[in-house]
Amino acid sequence: MAIEPKGIIIHSMSEYITRDALKWLRRFDKEANTYDGKPLEEFSEQLHAPEWLRLSRLSVHGFIAPDGEWIEGLAGPEKAAHAGKSRFEELNGLNSHFLGFELLVPGLNDYSQFIDKIDNQSPYSEAQLNTAVSKCIEWMQTYNIALTNIVGHSDVSGDDVRGEGKGKKDPGKSFDMEAFKGRVSAKFMDPFS
Ligand SMILES: [Zn+2]
Repeated sequence: MAIEPKGIIIHSMSEYITRDALKWLRRFDKEANTYDGKPLEEFSEQLHAPEWLRLSRLSVHGFIAPDGEWIEGLAGPEKAAHAGKSRFEELNGLNSHFLGFELLVPGLNDYSQFIDKIDNQSPYSEAQLNTAVSKCIEWMQTYNIALTNIVGHSDVSGDDVRGEGKGKKDPGKSFDMEAFKGRVSAKFMDPFS
């Protein structure tokens, strides 16, 4: 199903996730030690982010690797499952209204390492941010999206929307949204800058 995109959600996630994390998902069978009927040891020890999302039955419109490579997810404007419980102004359930991409945080990270990096360590490379800027401009032009409708996942799915302690934290305190929007805006005005 296609949506009429009204905005863009910037997410981040670990580039690799241990297969042991599959044990936390609903489709893991404790007795059989299988996920989706497949023995756990038959999965790669480290799952690449796109594979992890697929196994989690989630989706997004793209991933930006640490070297800046764009990895296509669901082609926009297909409706993806990336936002979950979320709100922006009068809109609820932003999967039906927003496109999204994931900035990948290099390497294998457990959740606490991931949070520490996105909050305290500015894990995003210049190449990654450049690709993110270009993708935002492409989508803004294709779908007539306003700069004000570019948001971080935490802006629209925080504790205020999901409940105390349940809010999303990506893309993290180290992601400078104002600076990012400044870059998008500058490049939008002057594509050759
Ligand atoms: Zn997110």
